[in-house]
Amino acid sequence: DKIQEERLKYLTDEKRIKAVTVLFSDLEGRLHLLDYDKKFLLSSYDNLTFDGSSIRGFTAQKESDLRLGIDWSAFYWVPADVFGSGKVLVFGSVIDKNGTPYSGDLRGVLQSYSNKLYSEQGYTLNAANEIEGFLFAGPDAERRFHETGKFEFVNTGGYYHSLPLDPLRRFIDTAAEVQRAMGFQNEKDHPEVAPSQFEINYGYGEVVAAADQIQIYKLLARQIANNMGYTASFLPKPVVGVNGSGMHTNLSVSKDSTNLMWDPNGVEKISTFGWEFVDRVLSHALDLCLILNPSVNSYRRLDPHFEAPNQIKASATDRGSMIRIPIGNSKSSRVEVRSVAPDANPYLTLYSIFKTGFEGSTLSIDGLRQAERYLPSEIYSALEDFRASEWVTKILGDDVKGRYADLKQASADRCARALGTFVKSAEVQFH
Ligand code: GLU
Ligand code: MG
Ligand code: MG
Repeated sequence: DKIQEERLKYLTDEKRIKAVTVLFSDLEGRLHLLDYDKKFLLSSYDNLTFDGSSIRGFTAQKESDLRLGIDWSAFYWVPADVFGSGKVLVFGSVIDKNGTPYSGDLRGVLQSYSNKLYSEQGYTLNAANEIEGFLFAGPDAERRFHETGKFEFVNTGGYYHSLPLDPLRRFIDTAAEVQRAMGFQNEKDHPEVAPSQFEINYGYGEVVAAADQIQIYKLLARQIANNMGYTASFLPKPVVGVNGSGMHTNLSVSKDSTNLMWDPNGVEKISTFGWEFVDRVLSHALDLCLILNPSVNSYRRLDPHFEAPNQIKASATDRGSMIRIPIGNSKSSRVEVRSVAPDANPYLTLYSIFKTGFEGSTLSIDGLRQAERYLPSEIYSALEDFRASEWVTKILGDDVKGRYADLKQASADRCARALGTFVKSAEVQFH
């Protein structure tokens, strides 16, 4: 197609580019980077293969060879000090032997769902994520944690309180500048409530691009922190006693440039369309919890004393609610899912929430939006709900569901076994 042609011509003409970094994510959302020599890629882009057996959650059986397609529309120019010189970045799609999109590649699943809704109903799915993280002292904060049981902050913190050029602020400034250079529509950035905590906000985008940007955000934050002698962490609750990090996920749907979530006369100015979406997500909250909160550590975050939700309800004001309705207008009207953790697989998360919002069923509970219902407080309970869920089987299929549950079970069991020896270190899984 046309975009592919343009990119190939660009790569051929631009002599400074030597290599192309292809990105894809495994079932748990961990990003993988594969560098192809430019000349090789130009001659072989339609015949790239890789060994899927070394990727966790991918091919379980013998069929380990997978193909890699290139999504030329997800192409980024990158600053050399973050990604290495002479490189550009592009997202890949994983394809199985028979040439069909690989079911374990949730980016592909999200993309085909988004394409289907557009072609059948004219819907465009939009997402904006507020990704919080911590900046810890030392490029080896994880090793230090294992030795001392502590993460060291780089500032004393507080919302908006940093000095204009303290270590956290310099990190945020650098990261925001890199994002701007890469085409993110930056809006605002600030130290978050906990010491050494940050948040960088940028504008919403079409859902696949939005998920790609989450992956890039975390990657560049980690690299920039490392360049500066720090560690960026997206662990949901790295430090007990202060706020954890969320990845609030703002969602809207547009059709013919009209935001379908908006209705100036609706409850909280949200349309019936929007409320039906919310009701379905609330109804399936327990089915989806293991997707939105995928780690042992993520359940420690879900505590309303630290501005994180633990209730399955929707509210305009209460930040203890899983879904919040922010103030909006005809353009910005949206629903905010606050229970999402920053170590969730963004493709899996966005696919599941949208699929549920459109196609889920609604529980007949009186006052569903305000009913007293709670999210699981630990991962085993979420695992149980997930495994028992027919809805999850329906949206992911038995195979992906089973492999995802097994991975989560294994990591929960690792933590449980470590209890009594070195509880904390077992929880530290940088994502
Ligand atoms: N850090 C809080 C969380 O874990 C959110 C704070 C905020 O509302 O931005 O979700
Ligand atoms: Mg925040
Ligand atoms: Mg928010």
